[in-house]
Amino acid sequence: MTVPDYDFRCEDCERRLLLHWRSVADYATATPRCPHCGSDALTRLIGRVGVSGGERDYASMSSADMLSVLEGEDPGEVQAMQRQVHESGDNNRLD
Ligand SMILES: [Zn+2]
Repeated sequence: MTVPDYDFRCEDCERRLLLHWRSVADYATATPRCPHCGSDALTRLIGRVGVSGGERDYASMSSADMLSVLEGEDPGEVQAMQRQVHESGDNNRLD
């Protein structure tokens, strides 16, 4: 399973933070705190900064996985998927 990394901004010291958890279950129960000032007034920024294992291979995804990306909250990931699928389609064209 991919371990999630999340990008936050601390409302108290205004630093940008990249926090990660060992598992999704940890994230669901943990209260993220700023490692600099200890505040829990963190705002999660849009989008993921890092995904373990590198870029996903959208062109070989199942349609169910594609649907989950399309229904997700990350417009950058949707664009990356559409670009990859489009490019692979061009490469496979015979004429
Ligand atoms: Zn802080």
